[in-house]
Amino acid sequence: MEKSTEGKMLQESLTHKWKNVWECIEKEEREKVFEINEEYKNFLDKGKTEREAVKEIIRLATEKGYVSLEEIIQKGIKPSPGMKIYASNKDKSIVLIVIGKESLEKGMHIIGSHLDAPRIDLKQFPLYEDESLALLKTHYYGGIKKYQWVTLPLALHGFLIKENGEKVDIVIGEDESDPVFFITDLLPHLAKDQMQKKMDEGITGEGLNVLIGSIPYKDKDINEKVKLNILKILNDKYGIKEEDFTTAEFQVVPAGKSRDVGLDRSMVGGYGQDDRVCAFTSLKAILDIDTPNNTAVALFVDKEEIGSVGNTSMESKFFENVISELVNLTEDKYSELIVKRALANSSVLSADTVGAFDPNYPEVMDKKNSPYIGKGIVLVKYTGSRGKGGCNDANSEYIAKIRKIFNDNNVIWQMGELGKVDQGGGGTIAYILANYGMEVVDCGVSLLSVHAPYEIASKADVYMAYKGYKAFYKA
Ligand code: MN
Ligand code: MN
Repeated sequence: MEKSTEGKMLQESLTHKWKNVWECIEKEEREKVFEINEEYKNFLDKGKTEREAVKEIIRLATEKGYVSLEEIIQKGIKPSPGMKIYASNKDKSIVLIVIGKESLEKGMHIIGSHLDAPRIDLKQFPLYEDESLALLKTHYYGGIKKYQWVTLPLALHGFLIKENGEKVDIVIGEDESDPVFFITDLLPHLAKDQMQKKMDEGITGEGLNVLIGSIPYKDKDINEKVKLNILKILNDKYGIKEEDFTTAEFQVVPAGKSRDVGLDRSMVGGYGQDDRVCAFTSLKAILDIDTPNNTAVALFVDKEEIGSVGNTSMESKFFENVISELVNLTEDKYSELIVKRALANSSVLSADTVGAFDPNYPEVMDKKNSPYIGKGIVLVKYTGSRGKGGCNDANSEYIAKIRKIFNDNNVIWQMGELGKVDQGGGGTIAYILANYGMEVVDCGVSLLSVHAPYEIASKADVYMAYKGYKAFYKA
């Protein structure tokens, strides 16, 4: 008896088990978890595209006293500790900054997430008619499983630019009274051949056409009457014509709001949680801080899902240019060396999601090293595929610092990696920031059904991400 107690004590002191957040938090914190997730669902619903998310971030930031970098440059204001600044990049990515007590040269505490999510974009000449049905041609964006996007209600989000330069914003399918759109699927009765195909061939990219109408325009003497009727509806409501689609950006996304999941309401189901869950939690964290020691930065970038390319992505020079502007405003004499030092001395949490252990698919996970929903914010030392190919392998000296910040602040965290070795893989923006010499580690929320029209997050993890990010900014 005595011996087994001793063994039990030894085991408790030497071995490690990740904690379940729900088992560790008291009533007061539990209430906070649910409160914050109401805000989170609202953020998801308001920002279903990167542009909508940027708009919402600017709205929330200006409420908290953030001023645009443009305005600061224009007025020649010298940034001082505690000053809150935002800089938007073409309305598709944005950076929030709180000037710290230390000089910029000492480095920043940066949290970087992405606002884009896998979806279906309209082609630039989308509208056509086939056998009295009007449809829209699409081109998917990011890593989707095409079969998941058929037979579910879809909404259209985007804008067109008319010939006169006027921009027309359009969202259809989100209001309860709005119509929605669908991509059809083959009836099982005639799907003998389709069902024999591989899953990624059963539904094709060119087959993802969105059904948008079926009433013909009343005129015997014309053809493509249904298409004309749709164009007339669009013209009556928005004053647009077909050519305007060539200067449009439209995204087709699941219609409707995010929802509580589970009888215990412990989870959130919703579209675009990769990576708006990290965007929301890092946003909330930076909006909560006053004057940090090191300058705090929240980066929200675009185009992560297609490889971080283009002028709104992490690969663009936008962030570097913003720091150059800041150095120019804060220092008596502009120096590129100070910009380089400010970047190189920075610490980063690359805030992105990772696939959680799914009891339906245990065969792709290493149970010992998989993240679990409900067990807190996840640190991911490396991503990549095969032999860690293409990843940012974070330095353990740096991870040790983050571990201490989390433990000192009662942040429940876990360490995990994406699936079994040689099972696949993925990447984040981590390696791009690491190129500056910054210390970077991936750190975010694990999800079920990543990249599906509806992804699932644990409310406990959303809360712990917020708590962890805030502790990082305050450190
Ligand atoms: Mn992501
Ligand atoms: Mn992704």
